[in-house]
Amino acid sequence: MKKPKITVIGSINMDLVTSTDKFPEQGETIRGTQFQTSPGGKGANQAVAAARLGANVNMIGLVGEDSFGEQLLTNLHNEDVDVTNVAKQKGTSTGLANIVLSEKDNRIIIIGGANEYVIPSYLEKCKEAIIESDYVLLQFEIPKQTIEYCLEICAEHHIPVIVNPAPAMKLSKKAWKQATYITPNETEKKQLFQNQLDERFIITEGKQGVSYMEDNQPKHVAAHDVEVLDTTGAGDTFNGALAVALAEGRSVTDAIIFANGAAALSVQKIGAQSGMPTKEQVFNFLH
Ligand code: ATP
Repeated sequence: MKKPKITVIGSINMDLVTSTDKFPEQGETIRGTQFQTSPGGKGANQAVAAARLGANVNMIGLVGEDSFGEQLLTNLHNEDVDVTNVAKQKGTSTGLANIVLSEKDNRIIIIGGANEYVIPSYLEKCKEAIIESDYVLLQFEIPKQTIEYCLEICAEHHIPVIVNPAPAMKLSKKAWKQATYITPNETEKKQLFQNQLDERFIITEGKQGVSYMEDNQPKHVAAHDVEVLDTTGAGDTFNGALAVALAEGRSVTDAIIFANGAAALSVQKIGAQSGMPTKEQVFNFLH
């Protein structure tokens, strides 16, 4: 089968994860227990998920002119993601997620950095990749105008788009209408859509599975009963996989079954990108 072409427009972050037994009080300095960096950002995660599952993936995004940016570009390249449209933005840092983990709680500070510079004029320069795609995949860690502009381009050129509205942010009515599929988790669904759902909505419900509509009927695919190690990136794996399966021309039900299987494999491993499966692994798991 010909490899589908998927363009992902979104964030590229370095996750800086500090583990500690307790959080410091105001003005206090304490010793943590461990530190590690790992590639993240919803855009990059979904690009890696789709590439591992056999798509030709083109990433559109920006990193800073710093060592994290360099590392993230290398990581995407090593994952076979085309980074022709990932440039280095001057005068800002690479996107970062500062994550502090204790056994009881976690606290996260996100720095948008270069991701904030993914503006419509940047997208304009990468338009060729978008209009040559079989499917486009969007999430909400870049500016709203860019997302709306991308939906506009895709509508004009009849390119199908999956909008993963994470983290929740309101778009214009026109923009929502231009999405082919919308994939909120339960929290995003409550925050953005209440009960105004239609056949384009695919709701991910964590360990419950996935709900959607087909032929005007509500449908549900149960999550797999697996041993969960780390659910970070489950949603990104799901969205990357969904894009691959839909771009291959599978039915929405088949695509959801495939994505649900891919996400179930990802939660059994630690890390967002490191736990993402290959196509062969998903087939072996499902058959
Ligand atoms: P995250 O932000 O952690 O990446 P999310 O909130 O965007 O995830 P979820 O709805 O939690 O997305 O999960 C996405 C999909 O991953 C689910 O619909 C399901 O297919 C799979 N999944 C998530 N948690 C589990 C689990 N505990 N067991 C099996 N499958 C799971």
